[in-house]
Amino acid sequence: MSGPVAIVWYRRDLRIEDHAGLAAVCDHGGHVLPLYIHDEREMGDWSLGSASRWWLHHSLQALSSGLEARGSYLHLRRGDPSEVLVDVAQRIGATNVYFERRCEPAARAVEAKAERACARVGIETHASNDALFFEPGTIATGQGNPYQVFTPFWKRCLQEGVDYSTASVPSVLPSPSEPADGLALSALSLMPKVDWATGLRAEWRPGYAGAQDALQRFLSESVHRYSEGRDLPAERWTSGLSPHLHFGEISPRQIASALREVRGEGASSFLRELGWREFSHHLLYHFPHLDQHPLRDQFASFPWCEDRDGLRAWQIGQTGYPLVDAGMRQLWQTGWMHNRVRMIVGSFLVKDLLIDWRRGAEWFWDTLVDADLANNSMGWQWVAGCGADAAPFFRIFNPISQGEKFDQEGTYVRRWVPELAQVPSRYIHAPWRAPDHVLRTAGVTLGSDYPEPIVDHAFARQRALDALQKSKA
Ligand SMILES: Cc1cc2nc3c(=O)[nH]c(=O)nc-3n(C[C@H](O)[C@H](O)[C@H](O)COP(=O)(O)OP(=O)(O)OC[C@H]3O[C@@H](n4cnc5c(N)ncnc54)[C@H](O)[C@@H]3O)c2cc1C
Repeated sequence: MSGPVAIVWYRRDLRIEDHAGLAAVCDHGGHVLPLYIHDEREMGDWSLGSASRWWLHHSLQALSSGLEARGSYLHLRRGDPSEVLVDVAQRIGATNVYFERRCEPAARAVEAKAERACARVGIETHASNDALFFEPGTIATGQGNPYQVFTPFWKRCLQEGVDYSTASVPSVLPSPSEPADGLALSALSLMPKVDWATGLRAEWRPGYAGAQDALQRFLSESVHRYSEGRDLPAERWTSGLSPHLHFGEISPRQIASALREVRGEGASSFLRELGWREFSHHLLYHFPHLDQHPLRDQFASFPWCEDRDGLRAWQIGQTGYPLVDAGMRQLWQTGWMHNRVRMIVGSFLVKDLLIDWRRGAEWFWDTLVDADLANNSMGWQWVAGCGADAAPFFRIFNPISQGEKFDQEGTYVRRWVPELAQVPSRYIHAPWRAPDHVLRTAGVTLGSDYPEPIVDHAFARQRALDALQKSKA
């Protein structure tokens, strides 16, 4: 073996193409050891959710095969990265470690500790920021403060100029022989003991190739209708790229670069959604308690209800509101839910049931394949009206009229709540309003085949507004 040896410490950047660390090592003509260190504590209190563990297993498998196809391998270890990095580096004589920064507070603490440990023994660390368009902290208002409103934030980003250049990585990656103590993927115990993942397998293909397929499908079939279609949950007008982006199987720059070939409103409105992702990550960087503390102080003492039965009914899609139940069942079966429906189910939990938004965020964290601390925390604070640029609390989604507007024929509801499949469109979003004979013909008995609404929306709406007044007092 000749040339310097470096470690690429993989984290949430599970790809080969457009990988700054791999590209840098290869540019220097060195050998690279790709290393993934499984650290259950890397996310602090947010240990990996069940759906994320499933995804991570398959994503590591895909990365490992991709590296093998380039003559390399993925070295797997578990433990504290600051110890494992030094140990592996000393065994193979590596003097440089490349890694991608993360913006979650606990993950940042892990990388700072690893950087200190490496520095102590003379190993150089090189950090990149390929998960985002801009380094958090570099986009600030005229007064030097972080933006808390999306539109001026994104305008500023566009003024700075999105970088579309992507790094190329050679087809062969020279690597040292694998050190001892490498683990088999199964040793990370990421897969569920009881196989509940049939729906996830049917829906997703974790890994770089799956990400590329999703991007190509979106560009050829959906981007032209994205602006008006992105709110319609029955069709596939959105990209489904969120888990791939979260695990870094594709970089935002690769997506932006592919989008440049596409003209029209759809492409810019899609880029704007990547802007929301950027915004949430910058927010989490500046407000590290975003996952727990409302950005608006007024909500710190909001009178939330303890309602275990309500929470359970919501989680399992048995609220009696078909659109809410459809969303929660889509989530349970596929690990993903359409964005419009995320807003509706979120509003229902927080405003109709008056359950603390953090309980909703926890359930999403466990069940989403795209569970992402920045996006999830911002999404829930948005829904609860307590976050940056959030929907005001008093704007309460009506799950019936939202259904009538965004799922007119009830196609989405029928797919996920099959017991209502024969209910006519007129009543599909409020079956309790259907005359008895209509329900009989549709084969539905409310209260046994499908629940009565667990709460009356008009009553719940008023109760939520009263609670808001109380929180202001
Ligand atoms: C309560 C709530 C919780 C959420 N939790 C998460 C989460 O844990 N992880 C997550 O990735 N997204 C989350 N979102 C945002 C959004 O719902 C998903 O990113 C989107 O549905 C993913 O589907 P897609 O890839 O087809 O999106 P597309 O419409 O194709 O958008 C492309 C990409 O832009 C980003 N994006 C789109 N919308 C948003 C948004 N509103 N906020 C931030 N980024 C966005 C995502 O990375 C997405 O993959 C949440 C939204 C809400 C309301």
